[in-house]
Amino acid sequence: METEALADPDLGDHRRRHVRGTLFAGSTADVQDAVRTADRHGTALYPVSTGRNWGMGSRTPVTDGCTVLDLRHMTRIRTLDLDRGYAVIEPGVSQRELAQRLEGTPWMLNVTAGCADASFVGNTLERGDGTIRARSQDLLGLEVVLGTGELMTTGGLDRHGRLPGSVAGPDLTRAFVQSNLGVVTAMGVGLIPRPEAITLINATFTRPALGSAIDALTRIGRAAFAGTGLFRLKELFIVPESGSPALPETADPEVLTIQGPLLGSRAGVKAAEEGVRDIVAGADGLVSYRALDTATTPADDPLYARTLFARGIPDCRSLRQGLRVNSCDQADRAAVGWMMFLPVVPLDHDILIRSIDIFSTEAERHGTAGMLEFNVTSPHSTNMVVQIPFMRDPDSTHRAHSLRAAARKAFLAAGFPPYRSNIDQAPDEIADRAFGYLDGPLDGLKRLFDPAGVIAPGRYINGADGRRGSK
Ligand SMILES: Cc1cc2nc3c(=O)[nH]c(=O)nc-3n(C[C@H](O)[C@H](O)[C@H](O)COP(=O)(O)OP(=O)(O)OC[C@H]3O[C@@H](n4cnc5c(N)ncnc54)[C@H](O)[C@@H]3O)c2cc1C
Repeated sequence: METEALADPDLGDHRRRHVRGTLFAGSTADVQDAVRTADRHGTALYPVSTGRNWGMGSRTPVTDGCTVLDLRHMTRIRTLDLDRGYAVIEPGVSQRELAQRLEGTPWMLNVTAGCADASFVGNTLERGDGTIRARSQDLLGLEVVLGTGELMTTGGLDRHGRLPGSVAGPDLTRAFVQSNLGVVTAMGVGLIPRPEAITLINATFTRPALGSAIDALTRIGRAAFAGTGLFRLKELFIVPESGSPALPETADPEVLTIQGPLLGSRAGVKAAEEGVRDIVAGADGLVSYRALDTATTPADDPLYARTLFARGIPDCRSLRQGLRVNSCDQADRAAVGWMMFLPVVPLDHDILIRSIDIFSTEAERHGTAGMLEFNVTSPHSTNMVVQIPFMRDPDSTHRAHSLRAAARKAFLAAGFPPYRSNIDQAPDEIADRAFGYLDGPLDGLKRLFDPAGVIAPGRYINGADGRRGSK
């Protein structure tokens, strides 16, 4: 454990950090031991649940000199309450495993389009977006080992793994999301009542009709149709003059898509579908409209994987196709590299157009393509997802990284800061938006919960002195 070695490359080809090795924890007590030992030895730990944080650093720590604390063997589903619809799970529980446990029950899971074997906990702690809602809406409470080794529960999760609801007093659950104040050893997860019907809407528009597609998306996002899941504008490909060999073969820059699930009673879904159809049919540039009954969509339908997600069933096929790998275990060594840039953008016609223009300018300047998506997370706001695939030769990799850095700078200047980051930029997210925000006192929480800076140095909160790890 004393010598440092270079970490394996990650899918985003971030700078390779030196790590001190990997520790595997199998229980909360193991995590407490690891934290106390690291404190005594003056070293730092970088916790990962399953380490599939693809495009943002995978399992690589933010700073050099950390020991990776791998929680993949913490695989207990501690509580599965099918009367009330919640689970308490450990970090090694994958979305596949929890989804399978829910088969045939009145509950289902909000799954992402990421790897089926990725941890539910890891993605939620990064504020991932599921198919039906933002993962933050699934998060009910946490069990956390603080940097002092103390154990804490939040959000009404009690020491016996029960969750009666949100109890009196401050709820610090969100303080442990996108931070380095503790190692999460269990998470209370709210399940989704399995509805009678689930329909997936998929509408495509011509590229010149981008503005009318945005208007349609905004109207759907604000219509409050019963049972509307997370709608998104997606498959908006920004391709520079020089082209992009890394884009998936199926990429069609001439069209873009609005997609989202409707869940509820048959009558409720029918009514919502009619409402969505009215909006979409009235928009200019509509190329195709489909309302798929997800229970009967055949496996050879191009949207089959999406219908699985809408039913709470994770699936890796389209992801592997994009990364050009046969197995997700090969992702970090894929021929195509992949990075994410994730700013928060208000749901507003002119602002969305502006954000697309800003990104397009940078994409052209850096000769690198991007795949844009806007996830409507509220009637006011979108999580913009920019996926940047690149060939992994030195020149393409350099251009992709330059594009992400330039886009971040331009979006910050325009007032659209990231809502989710990566190992290269996480240490600067709070400082770089400091001109407009007053979140400096967060460092005080770090001093309180992790005074010696044992946990994940540089992950969003920098703390007082950055004694451990180095950038
Ligand atoms: C093609 C493609 C599609 C994708 N689709 C989606 C999508 O639809 N939605 C989406 O949200 N993401 C998506 N992703 C991104 C990514 O793959 C996911 O976010 C992934 O689920 C996270 O991996 P993980 O669960 O193994 O987390 P990890 O890698 O284990 O952790 C993620 C982060 O949280 C921290 N962390 C993890 N566990 C703990 C803990 N127990 N205590 C404290 N800190 C912890 C880690 O330090 C790390 O910084 C996609 C990526 C690709 C390449």
